[in-house]
Amino acid sequence: MATKKMKSKATKKSAKGKKWVYLFDEVKAAEKYAGSWEDVRGLLGGKGSGLADMTRAGVPVPPGFTITTEACNSFRKTGDFPPGMWSQALAALKVTEKRAGKKFGDPKNPLLVSCRSGAKFSMPGMMNTILNIGLNDEVVEGMINMTKNPRFVWDLYRRLIEMFGTTVFNLDDEVFEHPMAEYKASKGYKVDTEMTAEDWQALVSTFKDVFKKHVGFDFPQDVYKQLEFATKAVFESWNGKRAVDYRRATAISDDLGTAVNIVTMVFGNMGFDSGTGVAFTRDPSTGEKKMLGEYLLNAQGEDVVAGIRNADPIENLQQQMPRAYKQFMDITKKLEKHYKDLQDVEFTIERGKLWMLQTRNGKRTAKSAVKVAVDLAKEKLITKEDAVLRITPENVDSLLHPQFDETAMKNAEKDGTFFAKGVNASPGAAVGQIYFDADTTEKKTKEEKQDTIMVRPFTKPDDVHGMIASQGVLTSEGGATSHAAVVARQFGIPCVVGASAIKIDLEERQMTVGDVTVKEGDWISVDGTTGKVFVGKIPTTSPSLEEQTDLLTLLQWADDIAARKDIRKAPKGWPTRGLQVWANADYPKDARRARSYGAVGIGLCRTEHMFFEPERLPIVQRMILSDTSAERTAALNELLPHQRKDFDGLFEAMDGYPVIIRLIDPPLHEFMPDEEKLLEEVITMRVKGETDGLMEKEDLLNDIKGMHESNPMMGLRGVRLSISMPEIVEMQVRAIFEAAADCTLRKIKVKPEVMIPLTGTVKELEWIQPRLERIAAAVMDEKKIKFDYKFGTMIEIPRAAVTAAEVAQRAEFFSFGTNDLTQMTYGYSRDDAERNFLITYQEQGILEKNPFQTLDRGGVGKLMQWAITDGRKTRPSLEVGICGEHGGDPDSIEWCHMIGNNYVSCSPFRVPIARLAAAHSALKYAGKAIAEDK
Ligand code: PEP
Ligand code: MG
Repeated sequence: MATKKMKSKATKKSAKGKKWVYLFDEVKAAEKYAGSWEDVRGLLGGKGSGLADMTRAGVPVPPGFTITTEACNSFRKTGDFPPGMWSQALAALKVTEKRAGKKFGDPKNPLLVSCRSGAKFSMPGMMNTILNIGLNDEVVEGMINMTKNPRFVWDLYRRLIEMFGTTVFNLDDEVFEHPMAEYKASKGYKVDTEMTAEDWQALVSTFKDVFKKHVGFDFPQDVYKQLEFATKAVFESWNGKRAVDYRRATAISDDLGTAVNIVTMVFGNMGFDSGTGVAFTRDPSTGEKKMLGEYLLNAQGEDVVAGIRNADPIENLQQQMPRAYKQFMDITKKLEKHYKDLQDVEFTIERGKLWMLQTRNGKRTAKSAVKVAVDLAKEKLITKEDAVLRITPENVDSLLHPQFDETAMKNAEKDGTFFAKGVNASPGAAVGQIYFDADTTEKKTKEEKQDTIMVRPFTKPDDVHGMIASQGVLTSEGGATSHAAVVARQFGIPCVVGASAIKIDLEERQMTVGDVTVKEGDWISVDGTTGKVFVGKIPTTSPSLEEQTDLLTLLQWADDIAARKDIRKAPKGWPTRGLQVWANADYPKDARRARSYGAVGIGLCRTEHMFFEPERLPIVQRMILSDTSAERTAALNELLPHQRKDFDGLFEAMDGYPVIIRLIDPPLHEFMPDEEKLLEEVITMRVKGETDGLMEKEDLLNDIKGMHESNPMMGLRGVRLSISMPEIVEMQVRAIFEAAADCTLRKIKVKPEVMIPLTGTVKELEWIQPRLERIAAAVMDEKKIKFDYKFGTMIEIPRAAVTAAEVAQRAEFFSFGTNDLTQMTYGYSRDDAERNFLITYQEQGILEKNPFQTLDRGGVGKLMQWAITDGRKTRPSLEVGICGEHGGDPDSIEWCHMIGNNYVSCSPFRVPIARLAAAHSALKYAGKAIAEDK
């Protein structure tokens, strides 16, 4: 191709100032200017850099050029194109004309172009695109002469006027759709294919009138003016409502701007040897290695993407156009290899010739993300590390999200609540009240806290805010690549599309199948996994991890990464592997779940939960109310076998993994009947003159009143309670060691670790710990058995963190109780803060995040770092973990990695997420020294 001269011309122009425009084959210059490929993507946008990259790889891409995001950002500031940009664009257009062998605006041989948005990160359908630019009254005549296909040309022209009106001048679709529907009705037509050349020509004239009426001037006949309008409209669409909403939901920065791609039009609507389609190189829903795509013959791109016309599956193309199909399969294979990821491609076939219009890494469900990552690693296209890094904690979270209970679903089918079936576009179970537009869905969800399902015939980019707010989405039209399906998959929203049996009546606000009508506000259940929709609510269950083999493989790789020796550099005694993941579990069944989810220890067993069980609570209350130590001991002796059994079960479930058992923590009044309720009962009995049992109740009430504290969470609890009433913890320690000894005798390995809560000074440990250690020794003597054990403490009070060097003289391990540590460091009571002011604080930017969910690195995190460093000065082998809520939060886990924790402990359900987060931290900080600064 004779491009050399023309290229240098385009480049020469730019030499006058900044280069705002890059031809698709100027990717080298873009790399030179931008630096990394990441920066090229930033400069040319995802679409522009993809087209340039494809051009470089020899893929057939229609000639064109990209106006940079820098130009967009300058335009957004000044409201005008930056100096030099437009002349560079016109020069690039000249080159494009030569390459396409056509001329822009020349009726004899016209070039038509599209003007397409494309930001660094894909925002599907959120910004503007204008097709068929370059048509005017004269060009239309010329094209008809050339193509001998007047129907096709008039159809293009009406599309351009319509798109210009709706996209560039923001007119309602309605202003064009209404006259078109009227026209079709007047002719008795049902579908567009019935329209003749004369019909389209008549409609062009109507559309021109509509345009003038609403815009105020004639549809521009100057093709360069068209291009200028379109370019500006694409720039402006960066700040359109739906683009802004989308960026909020996906945390894409507002500063990036969009590029504009001017691309030679190729036509899929040139007859039945032409067509257009979209495809995913692997299934974006399941991850299966199988091309999933749809195409339409004799159609333009938006017909497929909008999901309005029902498209054919891509396999059919093999029969219809074998050559183009083979070429398409070869190219997409090459693209997947090149980008090392599932590709989402758009293509057009013009008179048998294949053109690739776009390729990008495809949006996908969590399930698909995991399968694709694992498969690509197995195919050696990426490393296991890459695979692990490609999966987000949110992906893992959504895979453990509820699904519909299978029996409940079968029963529902039998009971006749089955409503309809559509395409299973995005998996998961959603139960909610239905609303028929995005604004109402959002309002009901946000303001009235309802669970909602958004129901639409099909969705458009304007509907995204409603989709994001909803639990699930249901449409009656469109297929697996329709807008609704793509967006729902990206956000992990369960979604069924194309349930064509459903008749949606937007006026009456209801939907109907046969004689069943569901009205706005009614409940339905949408199963994005099977595509089934039911009337009413169906119960859900948690999915089992065991069956998710790809996820198991990925998590195993994550564990292997975190277990690498020397992945952290640290002083002697400190951990040099990454973080282990333990779980908070109180009962053997929780421990078993934790292990099946991959936990390698119990970081917190809250023993008081066991006291609440119905047969135990009366004994506990008797123990609390006892007047003498003997009475208390008698009650505790009754509790001992129960506790022993609890611990036995835990040791057995954990089979040699460490089990940290925390001694009683809450204030005792929590085990007593509610004071107000009891008072009410006493008053009622007195009023009614009932005397039976009245005195006992009155005594109990007095006792409870006597236990009253003004701030119980900072009162008699934790180690303070143990010092005031040591018999309870003495019983607990005996139960722990007896259970451990019994297990050892049964050849079950045990590693008990006894945790003393709420320590504020080492003196507390000095008082209580030796007594407890004596009991441990006594039990082992009695049972004539020895096993390893530890005594340690929770760090929940800032003073304990600050005096960690002293605390570690006694404590053999620390576990950060960051729930209490956050309360006490900020001086916020968690319940009051979350109820009263935390949201305002976040809205006002006083707090960036809720510190009870994400660890406050600058305050609470600093205290932890201090405690670890000082604690290990006293005891280099000090074992350190975290057992507050933060132990399952990825950002907090990263901090724990950085400061030298041995493990994090979290709810069993969050263990898989924590395993992934531990690996991510290990990879991010691989080989780096643990931060010891104070
Ligand atoms: C903590 O304070 O972080 C903790 C784990 O203890 P609890 O939540 O039981 O007070
Ligand atoms: Mg606590």
